[in-house]
Amino acid sequence: MPDVDVIVVGAGNAALAAAVSAREQGAGRVVVLEKAPRALRGGNTHYSGGLLRFAYDRPEDLLPLVPDAEREVPGFPAGVEPYPQAAFWRDLRRVTEGRTDPELAEILIGRSFDTVRWMARQGIAMEPAVSLSGVRVGNTVKWSPGAIIRARHEGVGLSAMWFKVAEARGVDVRYDTRAVRLLQDGRARVTGVVVQDADGFRELTARAVVLGCGGFEANPEWRARYLGRPWDHAKVRGTRYNTGDGLRMAIEIGALPHGQWTGCHSTPIDADAPPHGDRTLTDKTNRLSYPFGVLVNARGRRFVDEGEDFQFYTYAKLGGIILSQPGGVAFQIFDAKVAGLLEARYKTGSPIVADSLKALVDRLPVERAAGLAALEAYNRAVEPGGFDPTVKDGLATRGLDLPKSNWAQRLDTPPFVAYPVTGGITFTFGGVRIDDRARVISTSWAPIPGLYACGEMVGGLFHGNYPGGTGLMSGAVFGRLAGASAAGE
Ligand SMILES: Cc1cc2nc3c(=O)[nH]c(=O)nc-3n(C[C@H](O)[C@H](O)[C@H](O)COP(=O)(O)OP(=O)(O)OC[C@H]3O[C@@H](n4cnc5c(N)ncnc54)[C@H](O)[C@@H]3O)c2cc1C
Repeated sequence: MPDVDVIVVGAGNAALAAAVSAREQGAGRVVVLEKAPRALRGGNTHYSGGLLRFAYDRPEDLLPLVPDAEREVPGFPAGVEPYPQAAFWRDLRRVTEGRTDPELAEILIGRSFDTVRWMARQGIAMEPAVSLSGVRVGNTVKWSPGAIIRARHEGVGLSAMWFKVAEARGVDVRYDTRAVRLLQDGRARVTGVVVQDADGFRELTARAVVLGCGGFEANPEWRARYLGRPWDHAKVRGTRYNTGDGLRMAIEIGALPHGQWTGCHSTPIDADAPPHGDRTLTDKTNRLSYPFGVLVNARGRRFVDEGEDFQFYTYAKLGGIILSQPGGVAFQIFDAKVAGLLEARYKTGSPIVADSLKALVDRLPVERAAGLAALEAYNRAVEPGGFDPTVKDGLATRGLDLPKSNWAQRLDTPPFVAYPVTGGITFTFGGVRIDDRARVISTSWAPIPGLYACGEMVGGLFHGNYPGGTGLMSGAVFGRLAGASAAGE
């Protein structure tokens, strides 16, 4: 007789969705192992913006999820466009350059709406993500399709709500308890884990084990090993506890690696951000209004098309591009015309301010002549036209080797501001292969009996880039699935 029915390793969104789902599907004794102490619990989920990308056919479909929306955003859901499954598919395929695993993507996209409704039924309250996704135009708010709803009070709220729901369902959460390795019987069935807690090492047995313990973004040695330079220097945007433990444990018993092991999600963050996520600042070090400005590196050169696409489709690769610049830093430069469009989180930063572009460049640690020349060349290349932040407005530069394809306005209205940024790592893309029941597949291409995985540990969905709001959605979809499958063992 095993000690418990289901062991869930990790205590983020994916793991707690799995634990709650396992209870719902009849597992009697469900234990969650959290390596972190209680004060630092909840993984990356706590630090997240809580944004959820999911498919829906009609804007009105969102209303049951956010019954208070009208009070928070008068007129909601005006300004919302439909986001059918085909649109989610297009976005995921486009940003991953067609490399997303189609079977996993089908599960993610096909079950996204049903899973958000399931989360709401469990007690996860939601709100319109106005500060992340909404752009106010006159009296209406225009929304980025598909990524409109977030957990109430963002990741802090999401994490707290999941713990509350799990505890109310009788899930036993054990803090300061690290899963060390998986136990197997003579038939290769996973029968539990070796854990380390205050009393040392001991075995905990179960009918099934769900791994939901994150990627390896907080492990500099693994970053160097799989991502290469300059990732060993990256600041970690979230938890310090995602060090690849679950991936190591699974691969040690023959799990099949899957997806892009050289890839990760990384974003432009304040150059002065702390080395690991701050529990209070959470995702507020992000600097994502760059489509409305110009980016230069320490050599004074532009190095990216700032207006390639909306931020939700470029931000997750821009961190790495910045980290690869000299010194791993860059400067986001804006003029007063777009000051009102900068996300509220810019208020947590300390911009360099000046009344002319020359004075601004003089104050930046960049090669001055080159920096000023780059900004002046940019200004000369801007074409006349109508600026519209709610659509890809086609307002592009002309004649530059490196264009800015949308939202290109001249930098001509003082004061000018520059925000120093670096690239922060969010999570890693490489993981293990799972099947349509979230069973972990072995290098013999057969499921490893009794072992499931979910969340960041699942490889194959993301390559090179990522559409904003998909990490939590993936965690919830595959967590729910893994928990239900584990309960059936
Ligand atoms: C700053 C920031 C903002 C983000 N914003 C968004 C957003 O708005 N929308 C979105 O979709 N995604 C967002 N993400 C990404 C999202 O947070 C992650 O994709 C998601 O939280 C991953 O969930 P998870 O459950 O797989 O892992 P996590 O939430 O990271 O949980 C992993 C858990 O495993 C535990 N653990 C690790 N090793 C062990 C071990 N050996 N034994 C026991 N426990 C262990 C950890 O302590 C932790 O509790 C953001 C991430 C960050 C860092």
